Amino acid sequence: MENRVNDLQVFVNGLASSVAIIKKDKTEQFFITACNELFFDMVGGRRSVLREFPFPLESVIPSYTRRDFIQKVRECFDTGEALELEQAYDLKDSTHWWRLSLKPFHFGNNSDDVNGVMITGLDITAKILLQHQLEVSTSRFRSVVNAAYDAIVTIDQQHRITLFNRAAEDLFGYSQDEVLDQPIEKIIPMEYRKNHSDYIHKFARSPVRSRQMDERNRVYGLHQDGSKIPVEIAISKINVDGLLEFTAVIRDITDRVHLMDLLEKQAATDPLTGLPNRREFTALSEDFLKEDRNFSLLIMDVDKFKLVNDNYGHDVGDEVLRALAKVGCDTVRHKDVFARLGGEEFVLAMPNTDLEQAKAMAERLRKIYADKDFDFDWQNEAVPFTVSIGVAACEGPNDSLANMLKRADIALYQAKETGRNKVVW
Ligand code: GH3
Ligand code: MG
Ligand code: MG
Repeated sequence: MENRVNDLQVFVNGLASSVAIIKKDKTEQFFITACNELFFDMVGGRRSVLREFPFPLESVIPSYTRRDFIQKVRECFDTGEALELEQAYDLKDSTHWWRLSLKPFHFGNNSDDVNGVMITGLDITAKILLQHQLEVSTSRFRSVVNAAYDAIVTIDQQHRITLFNRAAEDLFGYSQDEVLDQPIEKIIPMEYRKNHSDYIHKFARSPVRSRQMDERNRVYGLHQDGSKIPVEIAISKINVDGLLEFTAVIRDITDRVHLMDLLEKQAATDPLTGLPNRREFTALSEDFLKEDRNFSLLIMDVDKFKLVNDNYGHDVGDEVLRALAKVGCDTVRHKDVFARLGGEEFVLAMPNTDLEQAKAMAERLRKIYADKDFDFDWQNEAVPFTVSIGVAACEGPNDSLANMLKRADIALYQAKETGRNKVVW
């Protein structure tokens, strides 16, 4: 018998859980009739005090957990049901969390009576600490993500949105509740959806882990109101338990795009008249010529413009140039490009136009100016003016824009030489 008790003691002391048997006397006092060493460790290592079983439960449970502990034990006795309890015990230098399970047991004749409660406890400190660390890093991650100036959107392997930060809500006009679990297509304009999906598949297979999306072309997002937002996207992928997850950092570049558009437009526009400038004219004409050799152009120069300046002043001269530009624009066809070469010289590029049609257009322009056959809201003085025009048509596969301009210039010179207010080709 003595041996069996010792074996049992060795056994329970070797358990990885704390164990205690609790009984109660007639005065409803609880006693520990048996427990292992880990139970002492759990409640604060008071094992050094030599104890004789049974001893009062209260005497070993620290005051700060005692109330909950005893209440649970009482409940277990009263209800006869198994219960659980989680408690934190402050030991000398650290806190330990335990999950206790209380099981009532019965013996004797009246099996309804609870004769005792067996408590087993598991040290869940490591788990709690890990959980805590995870919570800390999760909330740190969340606050960084939400404070980010850029929109951050994560999608899973099925391209469904799993993360949508505040900046993303602002950028796309959706709350995260409206987009979580939705396909990413929801925030991509229709015409880019197929490409996007192909892109993600390609990126998933490539060894590259992060990249800038489509550096050459503009990338657009789709706002909730249906408008397209120019964006810049850096995308990265991570492998989560064998599944790929993609995170995009998205920056709204509307302002930059507007500025770039403005700069581009400025670089291509003559500030006085608002017409395309020489550079723009050259680029567009080269494009026309590449596409179709049936192409003509004309150069137009204001006659005796120096006199306009001398007689009426430079401001009036400027106004003549603006009137000439507006009337020219209103007269030429939609496909033509009317531009200011510089000074009081203008050019007209005419795609799909042969020499005869070009001469007709030149004559039309000359006549409108000469006959003052136009409306213009003059700020200063309505000044009469005429123009001389030189016309040139493309002369085959070896012809070039430079040669055409040269021929038109020679024709223009002849027009000046032979009386002005004339069209020559
Ligand atoms: P022609 O009939 O031979 O073309 O005579 P012209 O006086 O027009 O010829 P010229 O090329 O000698 O004079 C062009 C004048 O255009 C000289 C210049 O002061 C003026 N001019 C050039 N650019 C501008 C401008 O932006 N505004 C104004 N007001 N005048 C300009
Ligand atoms: Mg002139
Ligand atoms: Mg001139």
